[in-house]
Amino acid sequence: MPEVKSAVVAGGGIAGIACALRLAERGVRVTLLETRKKLGGRATSFVDVRTGETIDNCQHVALACCTNYLDLLQRLGAADRIQWHREQYWVEPGGRVSVVRPGGFPAPLHFASSVLRASFLTLGEAALLGRAMRAIMRADRAAWRARTFGEFLRDACQSERVVRRFWAPVVVSACNLDVGRVSAESALHVFQEGFLANSRSAEMGLPTVPLVELYDRAEGVIARAGGVIRLGVSVTEVSARSVRATIGTEPVEFPADAVVSALPVERLADVVSQSDRQRDDRFARLGEFEHSPILGVHVRFDRPVINLPHAVLVEGATQWLFRKDDAGSALHAVVSAADEWMPLSERQIAERIVGDIQAYFPDSVGASVVSLRAVKEKRATFAPTPAVQAIRPGPTGPSGIVLAGDWTDTGWPATMEGATRSGYVAAASVLGEAPGALLARPLAVGRVARLLGLRSAPVGAYA
Ligand SMILES: Cc1cc2nc3c(=O)[nH]c(=O)nc-3n(C[C@H](O)[C@H](O)[C@H](O)COP(=O)(O)OP(=O)(O)OC[C@H]3O[C@@H](n4cnc5c(N)ncnc54)[C@H](O)[C@@H]3O)c2cc1C
Repeated sequence: MPEVKSAVVAGGGIAGIACALRLAERGVRVTLLETRKKLGGRATSFVDVRTGETIDNCQHVALACCTNYLDLLQRLGAADRIQWHREQYWVEPGGRVSVVRPGGFPAPLHFASSVLRASFLTLGEAALLGRAMRAIMRADRAAWRARTFGEFLRDACQSERVVRRFWAPVVVSACNLDVGRVSAESALHVFQEGFLANSRSAEMGLPTVPLVELYDRAEGVIARAGGVIRLGVSVTEVSARSVRATIGTEPVEFPADAVVSALPVERLADVVSQSDRQRDDRFARLGEFEHSPILGVHVRFDRPVINLPHAVLVEGATQWLFRKDDAGSALHAVVSAADEWMPLSERQIAERIVGDIQAYFPDSVGASVVSLRAVKEKRATFAPTPAVQAIRPGPTGPSGIVLAGDWTDTGWPATMEGATRSGYVAAASVLGEAPGALLARPLAVGRVARLLGLRSAPVGAYA
């Protein structure tokens, strides 16, 4: 491969930032083009005109197993803006709380004692869950790509109640799709890497600042490493050696030795030439990607209503609540796979969300809503159905255009980790290195987990 001295990266979301930063660090003259006036893409914040506050489009959660994303934050100097939580609080209607936290046993048994004590599952259900976890330990993810996680759970004899109370909330939040539609490969990934491999895997990292403060700094960091960021530049055509774009109405061309597209899948389809489409079958099925929506609701009450940092609402229409101030009067509610919420008005959404808060935190009854803002992200993530999993493209192909983005074949569901991995792998491709050369080490699979059959993707494996 000829030495690459210059590169253009189209799209300034997490994948584009990750790619541009690693290339700049390696001395490539990199230009990052982003259509908006800020970086961060779908992990974003905005000023709410009603309150003047800077709020996120939605709470973004990282897990300790997201080692590439954490590596990126480290490089951006933002790792200390993440607060780590070992506990998960599962709350039932009426307010009963079960705390799930790693105990004294090694992985994969670290959650066993708190699941056995949890009140939202019976002892029989906890045993059933253990049975499925044993099957998950040994499951070959790739072999399950074409089937749904619903089928896996049926094979593992899980009752409907356990699915509703445990499997559904975890899978829907992690994969943004119902258990009946999500590819088993994606869901198995979440449990193998995010729960079972290491007793730290499932620790939850929540940003302590608006998302924009994590990614704004990328501009300075990439510039100091020698790269150039161009905001407000809309890419109109990508090819292996150049990117065409417009600044306002002015057409501009950015020639380079290498071009990386870190654009959303639905945008890429419009900017690839007919000839590249014909010779590179990675572009043939872009139109078949489906999306799944997420709803984030910011709500502030006139007094404290919640005394937990976050909560899973067992069998709730609202899946997660996050406390957004010390007092517990500002909350953020998240509904993933939120198709049926998309047509609702903000008033209807408010009624449902506040109804859930009152049902699960009865002390909140009587508190008044001071402000509420619902943010609907209709195309929040691609939908990892078996059909979509089968068509996620790899980073390189005959057209020479390098692809990145959470929707490419990262092996992960649509996450900040998947986006970062894709960016690092794209950078390695541009540098002519092995796909995994720039990837961070995953958390080690615990000894007992290994003995029980769990295998992690080796470092350097892609997909
Ligand atoms: C509501 C919501 C909640 C989420 N929650 C979580 C979570 O809790 N944990 C988690 O890990 N992940 C979460 N995600 C997913 C995560 O945000 C994404 O996986 C990640 O941000 C995708 O990054 P990306 O760079 O691949 O894509 P994008 O963020 O889509 O980046 C693509 C970039 O390309 C730019 N662009 C588009 N067209 C052009 C053009 N013509 N020219 C130039 N630039 C262009 C866009 O403006 C954007 O900046 C959530 C996503 C949403 C929407």
